[in-house]
Amino acid sequence: DFLCRAAGAGCAGFRTCPLREEGESESREQTSIADIIFLLYYSYVEINDVDEAIRWHTAVCQHLRLKGRIRISHEGVNVVLEGLKEDVDTYMAIIRGDGRWGTKIDFKLSGLNEGRSIHEQRFKGLSVKETSEVVSIGLRQDLYPHFHGATHLSPQEWHEMLNQSKMDKNVVLLDTRNVYESRIGKFECDGVETIVPNIRQFTDFPKFVDDNIDLLRGKKVMMYCTGGVRCERASAYVKEKLQAEREGAEVFQLKGGIHHYLKMFDKDGETELEISEQGNKGAGAGAGAGRYFKGKNFVFDPRRYEPMHDGNILGRCHTCEKPHDLYDNGPECRCKTCRLLLLVCDECRKRHEDDWKVQ
Ligand SMILES: [Zn+2]
Ligand SMILES: [Zn+2]
Repeated sequence: DFLCRAAGAGCAGFRTCPLREEGESESREQTSIADIIFLLYYSYVEINDVDEAIRWHTAVCQHLRLKGRIRISHEGVNVVLEGLKEDVDTYMAIIRGDGRWGTKIDFKLSGLNEGRSIHEQRFKGLSVKETSEVVSIGLRQDLYPHFHGATHLSPQEWHEMLNQSKMDKNVVLLDTRNVYESRIGKFECDGVETIVPNIRQFTDFPKFVDDNIDLLRGKKVMMYCTGGVRCERASAYVKEKLQAEREGAEVFQLKGGIHHYLKMFDKDGETELEISEQGNKGAGAGAGAGRYFKGKNFVFDPRRYEPMHDGNILGRCHTCEKPHDLYDNGPECRCKTCRLLLLVCDECRKRHEDDWKVQ
């Protein structure tokens, strides 16, 4: 049944099916950086039989030799996968064609980083598990649902709004991500405050909003995250806390998150859009000048950050404070006490080996 569905969607079948080909690990090592693509997406869609969904997704991924992480709940799916480009294409066609996983799914594609090892940037295996929510904000599931979220802005609309917001004290950018993510990249716009909550995990976000609601009151709030999924819930919470409907507060969320915004500046991007002359300082669309996101988009996969970035280093070494934004310049460094992911430069790694826990 599954194989028929895959074949109907243009599956290469015999050539890629792991059941028919030996030496999989060998061929994984022979691929080049340009052959591999990462796919991120989420979809809010009612799933009645989660166990069956887990079996189905596992079979599809094994068939196409995709690795990564799939989380399935009764309210939808949250997915990051990687594999050969043609296999990821087939996968997207299968998901679109199947119909059970939502319509108009916003697939987000990006490649590996040049100049780094392929092996280190790829998943070691496939994990498909049940969760209680698409993304957990740590509140009861029926409170502040995603469909009460703030108005979505396309990357282009977001960019235009920032063009119009320079030096405007009534506008704030609100990062909904964790501290170690914001440390290597964030939105910056002249004269506009970027509020970075410095939270350890997303479930800390509601408390941050409760404690800092005065920073947001009466403002035009522009919320963003990696790929958009966290803002769906987070913006519903902010809207409710600001009593936005009653008080006419304006809350917006960036559709597709930082990922889609950076894709807009990516010369090879599939979603390349036109940027206005004003925003781009006359450099022409795709050149990358005039973008409001500085630094790197942290991702929860072995790449650690997406390849579309401006080269700005926002991060600082935890020990010596020198500019440094790589988490993977050696084994993972975490605080010995609280296990927070830390940036530690090459020199400090050698000099202060006992100061942090190396995984
Ligand atoms: Zn250092
Ligand atoms: Zn700590």
